[in-house]
Amino acid sequence: MSKSHALHWRRTKIIATLGPASREPKQIESLIKAGVNVFRLNMSHGDHEQHRENFERVREAGKKLNVHVAVLMDLCGPKIRVGLFKEGQIELKARQRVTVTTRNVTGEPGLIPSQYRQLHKDAKPGERVLLDDGNLELVIESIEGTELTCKVVYGGILKDKKGMNLPDSDLTVPAFTKKDKEDAGLAAELGADFLALSFVRCAADVQNLQRFMKKAGREIPIVSKIEKPEAVENIHEILEVSYAIMVARGDLGIELPAERVPLIQKDLIQLARSYHRPVIVATQMMESMITNSRPTRAEVGDVAGAAAAGTDAVMLSGETAGGRYPLKTVQAMDKVLREMEQYQWHRGRFGDELDDVRSFEALPLRKGVAHAVTALADDLKLQGIIIPTRSGTTAQIIAADRPTAPCMGVSSSEAVCRRLALHWGVVPVHANEDESHDWHELSVNIARDYKLTHSGNTVLLVSGFHEPPQKSEPVMKLIQL
Ligand code: PEP
Repeated sequence: MSKSHALHWRRTKIIATLGPASREPKQIESLIKAGVNVFRLNMSHGDHEQHRENFERVREAGKKLNVHVAVLMDLCGPKIRVGLFKEGQIELKARQRVTVTTRNVTGEPGLIPSQYRQLHKDAKPGERVLLDDGNLELVIESIEGTELTCKVVYGGILKDKKGMNLPDSDLTVPAFTKKDKEDAGLAAELGADFLALSFVRCAADVQNLQRFMKKAGREIPIVSKIEKPEAVENIHEILEVSYAIMVARGDLGIELPAERVPLIQKDLIQLARSYHRPVIVATQMMESMITNSRPTRAEVGDVAGAAAAGTDAVMLSGETAGGRYPLKTVQAMDKVLREMEQYQWHRGRFGDELDDVRSFEALPLRKGVAHAVTALADDLKLQGIIIPTRSGTTAQIIAADRPTAPCMGVSSSEAVCRRLALHWGVVPVHANEDESHDWHELSVNIARDYKLTHSGNTVLLVSGFHEPPQKSEPVMKLIQL
């Protein structure tokens, strides 16, 4: 298959979680060069001092390499975790009896501290306790005071701070915890590009965080993590109020039967795109690369499948945060995505076609224009779509239709350019405010700088979508260079 210059830009974005295995400034630079578009700071681990340092290191590396790379701060939400162990981990053997305690103690063989202090009040004998994304399983036999006596059903190694899920229990955990408030305060102070909210159940959870951020003086786009059955049920209202969603497959596959996750993922990608919201597929994408230098064939298939369905981004967690091969993992992921995109390019279609495009009803203006842009760019085999976008809205709308030509999202705001780093197919381009007024000159300059003139001397310029949608007067202009 021949390769087009338009494929120089990978369409599907890569998010990498920063951690002890990847936080050195040189490592961050290498990861950016290998193609990381967004770094995730996971607030479930580390302290504020480390997160602040990581944040500054990413900003410095982005500046040094002149790349728009964003920071996503991921709030833990009411995620229940085990505490710390004297040796950093313990081993659980099948049929062994262990105690789960809500006392504030350090764990040891046979004793597992739970960070959720109400656990002994909410849980009941006979219910399951799943550990480490469900890899280990206990069943509660009896509860006395703060101690839960459990039998190990499936054993293994349990490390510090691994997740604890109680899918059978009715828990009274608050949606937005005291720790979340402190962490969201840090995100406001640093000016994170995205804030992810865990265990979202409905729109009100997102709006609650939005109100908190407004009071904190910084409104940060919110990524709603879809990992509870209630979130899947309330997905339309959640998409209405969120900036983006994340298919958080780790917890989702525990809270719901794991076999439902692939179909939910497929539906969420379609739905998010039809709302023009970016969607992230997360967790266990290259899990084996935490210890191995190559991904399994199944992992390669998983990453390729997410790209084929048209996800905006794929995310790495432990692979880059604590794994042995953070750089190799990003390089492997980049290769898989590029291979799939080359195939899609030749097929003339990225992502699944949106169902509503085939509707007999009139489309909303946004979808109609985006669809026309995709068709025109493909029919004329254009090498680039130039999108002056003050807030990012126009780029977001056009990219959601997955046109074959790369979308050059041009903004005078560095913050908007960083935000566009998350969006499928968008190449963030920074331009001064006065430059972006003369569209002809702007297009000529961008076409020259980014080599967009391969077939014919035409580029397509699209502009004019705003929030609220009623204010939009979209313009499509073919510019002869
Ligand atoms: C997940 O559950 O898949 C997820 C991304 O969340 P976390 O890593 O915070 O558990």
